[in-house]
Amino acid sequence: MKKPIIFLFVVILLVKTTSAHEGGHYHSGDGTIFNSWTLKNGQQILGNFMYSKGNQMFVEANEGKMIAIKMNDLMPADKKLAAFKVAQLEKMNQQYEPSASSSFFNFEKFISLVIWFTIALALLSSVVKYLNIELVKRNKFQFLIGYASVILIVACSKSGTSAGTVTQPTIVSIPKTTTTFFDSAFASFKPAISTRYDATYFYIASTGIPNHNMMIGITNWQQQVPISQPYADANSWSIPLQPVYATTPLSTKTNLMKGAIAVAVNGIPIFNALNNRGEDSYLIGELDNWGGHCGKGDDYHYHAAPMHLSTINGLKPIAFALDGFAVYGAKEPDGTNMASLDTCHGHVGTSGVYHYHGTKDYPYVVGAMKGKVTLDPSMPAPENQILPQAFTKPARPSTNPLKGAYITDFAAVGSNGYLLTYKIGTKTAYVKYSWDASNKYTYILTDTLGNAVSTTYQR
Ligand SMILES: [Zn+2]
Ligand SMILES: [Zn+2]
Repeated sequence: MKKPIIFLFVVILLVKTTSAHEGGHYHSGDGTIFNSWTLKNGQQILGNFMYSKGNQMFVEANEGKMIAIKMNDLMPADKKLAAFKVAQLEKMNQQYEPSASSSFFNFEKFISLVIWFTIALALLSSVVKYLNIELVKRNKFQFLIGYASVILIVACSKSGTSAGTVTQPTIVSIPKTTTTFFDSAFASFKPAISTRYDATYFYIASTGIPNHNMMIGITNWQQQVPISQPYADANSWSIPLQPVYATTPLSTKTNLMKGAIAVAVNGIPIFNALNNRGEDSYLIGELDNWGGHCGKGDDYHYHAAPMHLSTINGLKPIAFALDGFAVYGAKEPDGTNMASLDTCHGHVGTSGVYHYHGTKDYPYVVGAMKGKVTLDPSMPAPENQILPQAFTKPARPSTNPLKGAYITDFAAVGSNGYLLTYKIGTKTAYVKYSWDASNKYTYILTDTLGNAVSTTYQR
């Protein structure tokens, strides 16, 4: 009676190996880490779990491809991993629809239970036989072995190693952002800004002058002041309607120190948190109380996240990055507290679409461009920039840093000029400037000793 016992050990080994297989093998190719998912037909899909909907899960594969996989088509171990990921995500944001869990009846588990039951039964009877107890007759024992074999064959045909019918995973791209969604985000700032779109981009036209005060609070000043900019028509800000994931997100620590990386919903560009010398603009006092200052073209822009726009825009985005993804404020779009952020400074939201968040700490808006962007080929990193980009139009040559100056007041003078007040120590000085209908700009600079110099420029 040695043979049946050996056979039973083989059965035990087979069952053991099928259930010991663990999912979650990570593959590392060209620096990108991808999860490997094995389907019941042996097919392998490389991609990181992003979210689930119904009985499907969506994985992010190379070059921003999103692939939909039916969870029931996965090998048991990978299905287990998928369920774990879903549960994790559900815990994070209650996104997972509970109705889908009903489709989670595990046939494999049932079969494995039957097998173990059979083995136990067979072992028991072989022990009985070995002890020569008359209770079990030889033909009864043979029946039990036959039963175990049938169960084993069924289990093998159902387990993942043989070809099963699976739904071919489909490649789904990131949903195109609807113009309705864009419109709702920018609506509160009209008619100071205007928007339009074509098949590829959503365009924002603005004067570059925000609806809040500027300049006050700067303690590290380059003597630039805000004038309106021609961000309109062909020089409007452009946000792609169809974001595409970048294969390797471009880090803002070593890139994009030239142009804007995002556009706020009030039509003001947002630059890298680091200025073109690689310093944190906010930390070195270059920014005003609203997170902005002026560049060499007397162009006003933010370097920090304009979190204050949430007071006007509520839970809607405060900006859009130039890769097409929205930037939200301190809350999630559903009003819950911000979920943890990845190195790009964002995450996939409950809608299944990626977005960034503005924060009060570095990197403030974008840590790396999650989406694919086109770079200006004439500009090497770190002072490279994204295209398309709206360009500034200066009225005068750029100015230099003014040591010790801090801005105390900024106010409009009529409808075509401003008066900026600053101090060096206890002494007060001014920049008064205005323009006329023919684009003549006059700057009157009054220093701390009261000496005034007036210069006019044709813009
Ligand atoms: Zn700047
Ligand atoms: Zn979020």
